[in-house]
Amino acid sequence: MPLQPSLDAASARSALLAVENVAVTYSNRSGSHEVCSDVTLSVGRGEALAVIGESGSGKSVTVLAVTGLLGAGGTITQGSIRFDGEDITRLDDRERRRRGLRGRRIGMIFQNPSRALDPVFTIGQQLNEALRQTDRFSQPELRRKGTDWLRHVGLPDPEEALDRYPHQLSGGQRQRVMIAIALASEPDLLIADEPTTALDVTIQAQVLGLIRRLQRELGLALVIVTHDFGVVAAMADRVAVMYAGQVVETGTVDEIIRAPRHPYTRALMASLPTGIPGTRVTALPGSVPSARSMPSGCRFHPRCPVAVPACSVTRPVLDSLSESRAMRCLLEEAPAS
Ligand code: SF4
Repeated sequence: MPLQPSLDAASARSALLAVENVAVTYSNRSGSHEVCSDVTLSVGRGEALAVIGESGSGKSVTVLAVTGLLGAGGTITQGSIRFDGEDITRLDDRERRRRGLRGRRIGMIFQNPSRALDPVFTIGQQLNEALRQTDRFSQPELRRKGTDWLRHVGLPDPEEALDRYPHQLSGGQRQRVMIAIALASEPDLLIADEPTTALDVTIQAQVLGLIRRLQRELGLALVIVTHDFGVVAAMADRVAVMYAGQVVETGTVDEIIRAPRHPYTRALMASLPTGIPGTRVTALPGSVPSARSMPSGCRFHPRCPVAVPACSVTRPVLDSLSESRAMRCLLEEAPAS
């Protein structure tokens, strides 16, 4: 009988970020709905983890839980989140700021840079905020360091850009500024939630390449949220596949892309164009269930091409398959669909 993977005390201590058995519930007038349950994942120093799934799979809620930004009605109802050995599960905003968990130690890049940048402050003023979290710099030092960061992220005319307002830059330039701001405070962990979704397709690869290069150069841990296996392959060392608020498969990128085992991972990969002539793309029928109507048993059973009768009754747990790999499926060796 395989063991259910829970981070033991030693690995929870050694991982920079350790999310263990976390459940998130949103409540409003119409009731409470659990949108994530039993989410377990971790990332070590210098490591890049991709969290992938369709929209509604719970991947963004998971990173919001880590950053303490669940918003009104959102609560972590179970489990724990540890960062650098400290339990940060239930810290309030003030305590998070005091411990540097908003910027100085955990940097964030959002989907839409237009929303994340403040339109009334110049790029230089917003970069200064991040730089001041690391040291007390004089005004000339701030200007020099700000210019260096904008040059580092490939912004043209970096010194002039310091005096511009966000609306004076293109979408791709604003996203580069967001990356500079996130990195200028020298965080240990960078969280990027679909960082290129709002960008023109021609500059998506440039921005992703930039994040990966800086992550490697600076030795940062990275958690990147995506719905795109191309991004996983280009950006990550390990991957966690999420479906309906649960992690269903984890492993190294090489393992998962070369030999996906969970029926959902397989279906997700089969639904992508490979670019290889003659290969077939098979659409995944149906959609991710909502938190209000979660199926019984395995949450994937209504869409699973290899489901057996037990799948609609019994809830699978995330079982360890090897040191690097885990899967949530009743069939230990899921047959090819
Ligand atoms: Fe499919 Fe059953 Fe495995 Fe769920 S438990 S993924 S329904 S085979």
